[in-house]
Amino acid sequence: MSAALIQALAQAFAQQPGMAVRLLSRHVDDGSGRCSVCFTGAHAVRQRWPCQIHWYAIQAQALAEESRLRST
Ligand SMILES: [Zn+2]
Repeated sequence: MSAALIQALAQAFAQQPGMAVRLLSRHVDDGSGRCSVCFTGAHAVRQRWPCQIHWYAIQAQALAEESRLRST
């Protein structure tokens, strides 16, 4: 994913704050250091947690929060 995509996600999260929260609540450590939702590859190996989606949701949430603070 690119910085532009993070920016796009941030805009979406700024408009719908619940979206990031939902993503973050689903993409959690399954107890063995892997994401409970993300599967990769032909053998459906779970991605190590924090997975990319979790990481990008955090970044986008921070950006959205920043722009929210700037706009008020
Ligand atoms: Zn995940």
